Amino acid sequence: MQKLTITIDGPAGSGKSSVARRIAEVLGYVYLDSGAMYRALALKALERQVPMDDEARLVALARDTHIELRPPTSEQAATGVKNRVFLDGREVTEAIRTPEVAQAASRLATIAGVRAVLVAEQQRAGAGGGIVMEGRDIGTVVFPQAELKIFLDATPEVRAERRWKEHREKGEAMTVEEVLDEVHERDKRDRERKVSPLVRAADAVLVDNTGMNVEETARLVVMLAREREKEVARAAGKE
Ligand code: C5P
Repeated sequence: MQKLTITIDGPAGSGKSSVARRIAEVLGYVYLDSGAMYRALALKALERQVPMDDEARLVALARDTHIELRPPTSEQAATGVKNRVFLDGREVTEAIRTPEVAQAASRLATIAGVRAVLVAEQQRAGAGGGIVMEGRDIGTVVFPQAELKIFLDATPEVRAERRWKEHREKGEAMTVEEVLDEVHERDKRDRERKVSPLVRAADAVLVDNTGMNVEETARLVVMLAREREKEVARAAGKE
C-alpha cells in the first residue's frame, strides 16, 4: 500500500501531538512535530538574548541553525515524549516545553523569513511520504498536496485544561486561568498573523474532539487514512 502524507493542523491544546503520534504508530509512519522546530529556534534566540522583534537577526539565526527531530527512546516515550529535539546537536527535548518558549515561538513564527527557512526544512524532512506532520500551516503551506488533511479543534476551555494537566504532571504551578490566557494569546497571534495564519485548508477534514480522548480521535483519523490509502492505490492502478 502506498504511504500517504498526513497533515494535522489546529490550535494549541487541540491534541495534535498525541493524536499524530498515535496515528503514526498505528500506521507505521514517521511522526514529525513542526512546532518543536519553532520552539527550538525560539530557545536559541532567548539564550542569545535576540529580541523577538529583530527580524533580520532572527532570520540570520534561523539560517545558521540546525534542528533535528528524532523518535524518542522507549524510556522517553513512556513519559510522554513524542519527538526528541536536537538544536545544533544538543538535546533540548524538555527545555523547549515551557510557556516562555511557547510564547517566544509564536512571536518569531510571525516572521516570513524565519518561516521560509523552517518550512523548507519541514518539506525536506517529509519528502518521502509515510509521515504524519503536525503544526499550524502544514496542510495549507508545507504540504498543500497532502493526501489527507485534518484540522483538529476543541473548545478553548478544554484545550486549556489539557495543557494545564500537562504542566501539573511536570510539577509546574500554573492555574487553569493562567493557562487559558496563554492559550488565548497564542491562538490569537497564530490566527491573525499575516504570513501563513492558522486556518483550516479548504480540503481538510474538521475534527472537533472536545468530547473525545486521544485514542478515539486517533481511531477516527486512522479510519480516514486507511480509506485514503485504498483510494490512492486504486487511482494508481488505473493510470
Ligand atoms: O505546536 P506548538 O504549540 O509546539 O507550536 C509553538 C508555536 O509555534 C505555535 O504557537 C505557533 O506560533 C508556531 N508554529 C507555527 N507553525 C507551525 C507550527 C508551530 O507557526 N507549523
